[in-house]
Amino acid sequence: MKIIAIGRNYAEHAKELNNPVPSVPVIFMKPDTALLKDNKPFYHPEFSQDVHHEIEIVLKVCKEGKHIAEKFAASYYDEIALGVDFTARDIQSKHKEKGLPWELAKAFDNSAPVSNFLPKTQFANLYELNFKLDVNGETRQQGNTKDLLFSFERIIAFVSQYITLKKGDLIFTGTPQGVGKVNIGDKLQGYLEGETMFDFEVK
Ligand code: MG
Repeated sequence: MKIIAIGRNYAEHAKELNNPVPSVPVIFMKPDTALLKDNKPFYHPEFSQDVHHEIEIVLKVCKEGKHIAEKFAASYYDEIALGVDFTARDIQSKHKEKGLPWELAKAFDNSAPVSNFLPKTQFANLYELNFKLDVNGETRQQGNTKDLLFSFERIIAFVSQYITLKKGDLIFTGTPQGVGKVNIGDKLQGYLEGETMFDFEVK
């Protein structure tokens, strides 16, 4: 199982980090050791002083495919969840300056908490999904999938030109604006269409 993540998929978030709005999807990956489930606490790593939360809609791939046409891509994911793409922003900034890859900032252990998955058929319109992240009861990030630059289908079609998707793979689809630092003791709660999806602590 692998985790594929999309960067800069909401224009307002790209702007808040002074990044250009991309014309093709920006992708990176996290290993299976990044996955954190069941509301387990996130232990803040010592190597970063600026770990940021990025709330994201996560897709679960339901069958193997490569070179998937966009018009067929919807049949390659059947469940969605809410996740956090934890990012060591201090490390990422240094690596970006030097033009180096982002793995140390993005792929570290437990950097991908994911909620339980729900069947996508439960939602009337996947491009009208409200989601938000509260930290200690205060809303920090709020997004709606209508603002996605690249649709779920476009992402699947794009990624599968290069990388075979397999059943069980996860795709993090990008974060809206409002990313910020987490601190030890913070309580993170994620909501999708008003329902609590995850609730865990930073330790
Ligand atoms: Mg992200």
